[in-house]
Amino acid sequence: MTENEFEKIANFLKEYIDVYGEDIFVDRDRISKLITEIPDLEVVEKGMPAKPSKLTEKETPVRKSDAPLWAFMEEIKDCKNCPLWSTRTKFVFGDGNENADIMFIGEAPGAEEDRTGIPFVGRAGQLLNKLLARINLKREDVFIANILKSRPPNNRDPLPEEIAACIPYLYKQIELIQPKIIVALGRVAAQNLLNTTDTLKQMRGRIWQYRGVDMIVTYHTAAILRNGNLLNAAIEDFKFIMETYQNKLNKPE
Ligand code: URA
Repeated sequence: MTENEFEKIANFLKEYIDVYGEDIFVDRDRISKLITEIPDLEVVEKGMPAKPSKLTEKETPVRKSDAPLWAFMEEIKDCKNCPLWSTRTKFVFGDGNENADIMFIGEAPGAEEDRTGIPFVGRAGQLLNKLLARINLKREDVFIANILKSRPPNNRDPLPEEIAACIPYLYKQIELIQPKIIVALGRVAAQNLLNTTDTLKQMRGRIWQYRGVDMIVTYHTAAILRNGNLLNAAIEDFKFIMETYQNKLNKPE
């Protein structure tokens, strides 16, 4: 194998792990395509074209207003409370509206998020944008954050000590944003927020309480990209999120 071929395979695997995690799903057609077409290798998800992010280094992290939330970002963006500070490119505080009623919480930044400082901007983020659009929401209407603000190397699962070091920042974000609904995206977020080992299937479709706020659990968009069969269930979950939100607006506490 030439060095160029090796580099292309290494880059493919890095991108694969970024989107799909460390599980390797063997797809015979895709692998033979990969091997025969190394020179024009392109990772394109069926029906979900990869759009390169237009964000540049200089654009992030951005302090969006004088709201206390963004002042808080300034305060913590150089955090060194866990060893991930030494491998991250950017601290990924969160993105969206500081007055949002709905807050989405993912797991941890991936490669693209680490590069830009903005959560959910890779392919999983593009799918999140589409699911939001299905319920007439834009990213600017909600707030999106992660349990960890720094990328774990090779996108491994967050370690308990990393979560313990970082989660107080999420508590503070929730306190400042005061969302009406929190949505946990995926198993790692849901299990850590609810302190349970229940499966995602068990956690979906009902309203939980998290720090006094209604919380709904749905699939992580990266899991949906990995297994398209989850898409319909996720669409149902997003409808449930919107119904729950509308019910809350119609029945103020
Ligand atoms: N996956 C996450 O959980 N968070 C991101 O920001 C990106 C991918």
